[in-house]
Order: sequence, then C-alpha cells, then structure tokens
Amino acid sequence: MTDETIAPRRHRVAIIGSGFGGLFAAKHLKRADVDVTLIAKTTHHLFQPLLYQVATGILSVGEIAPATRIILRKNKNTEVLLGDVVGIDLENKTVTSKLLDWERVTPFDSLIVAAGAQQSYFGNDHFEAFAPGMKTVDDALELRGRILGAFEAAEVTTSEAERKRRLTFVVVGAGPTGVEVVGQIAELADRTLKGAFRTIDPTEARVILVEAAPAVLPPMGPKLGLKAQRRLEKMGVEVKLNTMVTDVDYMGLTVKEDGEEKRIECAVKVWSAGVQASPLGKLIAEQSDGTEVDRAGRVVVEPDLTVKGHPNVFVIGDLMSVRGVPGMAQGAIQGAVYATKQIKSELKASAGERKPFKYLNKGSMATVSRFSAVCQIGKVEFGGFLAWLAWLGLHLYYLVGSRNRIVAVYSWFITFLGRGRSQLAITERWVFARRAIEESRDQSAQKAIG
Ligand SMILES: Cc1cc2nc3c(=O)[nH]c(=O)nc-3n(C[C@H](O)[C@H](O)[C@H](O)COP(=O)(O)OP(=O)(O)OC[C@H]3O[C@@H](n4cnc5c(N)ncnc54)[C@H](O)[C@@H]3O)c2cc1C
Repeated sequence: MTDETIAPRRHRVAIIGSGFGGLFAAKHLKRADVDVTLIAKTTHHLFQPLLYQVATGILSVGEIAPATRIILRKNKNTEVLLGDVVGIDLENKTVTSKLLDWERVTPFDSLIVAAGAQQSYFGNDHFEAFAPGMKTVDDALELRGRILGAFEAAEVTTSEAERKRRLTFVVVGAGPTGVEVVGQIAELADRTLKGAFRTIDPTEARVILVEAAPAVLPPMGPKLGLKAQRRLEKMGVEVKLNTMVTDVDYMGLTVKEDGEEKRIECAVKVWSAGVQASPLGKLIAEQSDGTEVDRAGRVVVEPDLTVKGHPNVFVIGDLMSVRGVPGMAQGAIQGAVYATKQIKSELKASAGERKPFKYLNKGSMATVSRFSAVCQIGKVEFGGFLAWLAWLGLHLYYLVGSRNRIVAVYSWFITFLGRGRSQLAITERWVFARRAIEESRDQSAQKAIG
C-alpha cells in the first residue's frame, strides 16, 4: 500500500526523530510559515538521561517518555507520523517510512535528520541478548525485569553458586550512563531491598563496574573521574579499570585484566560501552557529493550542519559529527535551533550567507549516588552535594511537562530521602519478549526464503 502525500503550498520541512534534536526542531518551527512532518519510530519523546531511573525502579516510563503528538498538539503546522524511516531520496526530496504494512512517502523542501545513535557492541552483536544497552524504553524495562528478577531467582535457588551468580551485577562502560546505573543498582540492593527477602541478604550483592580505559568518566578528566570512583567504591561497587570484556554469554562474561583472561559469573549484565549512529547517516552520506561518515557512523557535516551538495538537508544531534560537540542533549538542541533558524531566515528574500554552527559548551554532569554527583562547567569542576543539586535542577528544567516534573520530584523525594521506589513492578513479558521477537523474526525470514 502506498499513500502519496499531496504537496502542500507552503515550504515543507520533514524531521526524522522525536528525540532532543527532532522535538526541539519541531518546537522552534511552531510559528514559522512552513508545514512540518515529524516522523519517528516511537510515539514518544524519550528523555534518555533518566532511563537508568526507570531501569532501577525510581521513575515510571510515562514520566520520561511523554507522547510526542500531545507535546506538539498546539503546533498547528505540524503533523506527527509514527513510522520507521526506510528510505531517504535526496534527489527527489522524499522520505519513505513504514508502519506495519503501510508505506508513506513524505515530500520535503528542507529535511532535518535527528535519528540519533544506538548501542555499539564493536562488532560483537551477539553480546546484546545477554547484555542489553540503555537506549530505549524497552531496554530500561527489560533491564528492570532482569535486575529485580535476579534477586527473586537468588531467593529461590538452592545452589550457592547460582545464588552468587544471580547476585552479581556487572555494568560495562564507566561513562556517565555506566556510573549512574551502577550507583543505582548498588543503592537498590543496599537501601530499597534491604530486609525484604528471607533467604538472601540483598546488601551482599556484588556490583561491578568494568572499564577498558584507565579511569572512570574519561571525558570528564582525572579529578572528577577519581571523585566518582572513590564514591562508588565507598558504596561497595568494585571498579575494574583497564579491563576489557572479551566475551559475554548467558552465564556471565569473560574479561581481560592484567593480560589475563578471567571469568565473572553473573546473571545481569548492562552494556553502556559505545554508540553507533543510525544507519540513516550512511544512507544520506552516500547520496551527497562526498560527505563521509566517521567510524561510529556519524555524518561528518559541513560547517552549516548540512551534507555536501544538499544545503537543504541538515543532520543534527548524535547523528552528526562535529569536532568539539559531544553526543549530548545540548549538542542536539543547539543543532536543532541552528537548523530551524536557517530554514526560517531563508524563507525571507533578504536572507544572507549562512554563518557556521557554533556550539556553546554548557558543561556536563553525572550522578553517582543520592546526594552525590560530579559536574564540569568550562574550567570549573566540582562534585558532591552541590553538583547533585545542579543535576537535580537541570534535569527538572529539561523534563517535558509540568506533571512529569512534579511526579519526578515526588519520586526523588521518596527514593533519596527515604528508601522507597514506587516502580518495582516487573513482568515476565518484559524479560522474555526479546527472545519471542527474535524467534518471530527468524520465522518470518525463513518464510521469506522458503
Ligand atoms: C542512557 C543515556 C543517558 C544519557 N545521559 C545524558 C546526560 O546526562 N546529559 C546529556 O546531555 N546527554 C545524555 N545522553 C545523551 C543524549 O540523550 C543524546 O545526546 C540525545 O538524546 C541526542 O538526541 P538526538 O535527537 O540526536 O537523538 P535521540 O534522542 O536518540 O533521538 C533519535 C530519534 O530518532 C528516531 N529514529 C531513529 N531511527 C529512526 C528511523 N529509522 N525511523 C524513524 N525514527 C527513527 C528515534 O525513535 C528517536 O525518536 C544520554 C544518553 C543515554 C542513552
């Protein structure tokens, strides 16, 4: 089935993605004299920085993933389409998306591609089934199921070795996500679950952070990295630096430490070690006049964030590669503001030359535990409670929706001041759906072949 969209009279802007880049682009075009179509493969805008709190039972999905069409309800010039973008034709200026058996072709005059990045397993994609990443709502719910399910299994098993394995949690990658999730698994075990089991003592859980580099939080520098490491160690987290994961399987993982291969038997593995840009980046680069992608698949854009030969095609956010711009929300938001500014100003006859995109580094931060974070703003580096307050304020500011902000503050109040967590429900489907989906894909592939 193919639905051809009738070309509207006004300048047509197609946006791919409803993350920070896509959503902010649509918001900044609200009053522009253009027709906007935002296409994304999820119905929500995801606030990725708080996914780890969904995975560890602090926040519910709705608080960090509000519906995109509701956020943009008042943008009368904007149509929101659910669909997986499977084709982009720069020559004919169309985007093809699929939803179930339907195919939709969206024509555009300007295109903003903000399709983000996914987890990278550095060529070892078979690790994923055993060590999910933390990129989507599905990832967070699956991990919540696995983390809490491990305590349940440990309570029931009669084998001491299996109990130990179930109570060993390994997080791979000591970037901000790894540090945040490992800190929260430790606090979940030590505070929230303490005293709730009869056979096991959750506070005896072994929580390990594995990092191939010689430091925690490598991009934040040695001082903050060491601060975060000391705090984690004080909480009982084992921090293994210079340690490379060489294999992952159901029973655990193999690491190379001090030149020696070692096994860590563990049920729960979380992967936060690398990113790979959306394949849409390569698709666009191949159609440009020589734009390349970097090793992580990010598009090496021109100074105005476009691709060579197509000044109407902007690539922003985690999908773009611009020296000095990290894969962070600020990069995506500022890219969205810049791209929409060019589109709006070029609708006017008086538009001048484009000035290159300039990134304003507003700093970075990571929470380590309750009341403790590390923060870097320019040359200023600080950690502890003050940094945690800064983290709290910033995340509240960027959370979408006043209801979500109120609920988040309430949830943080009960978790950080008390020890409760209101989102500890797990279901069998969250934990096992991946296997069922993979089996059904295999069956469809076999049918297609046979
Ligand atoms: C766990 C985690 C923690 C983080 N913590 C922080 C933090 O503390 N501070 C910070 O600044 N940054 C943080 N980041 C990074 C930040 O979230 C990203 O830099 C930001 O989300 C990038 O925005 P984006 O719009 O480029 O991509 P995304 O937000 O990833 O959005 C991509 C969008 O594209 C859509 N999409 C992808 N492929 C297709 C397709 N084929 N068809 C249709 N739609 C498609 C997706 O559905 C999604 O809507 C974190 C990221 C993660 C994963």
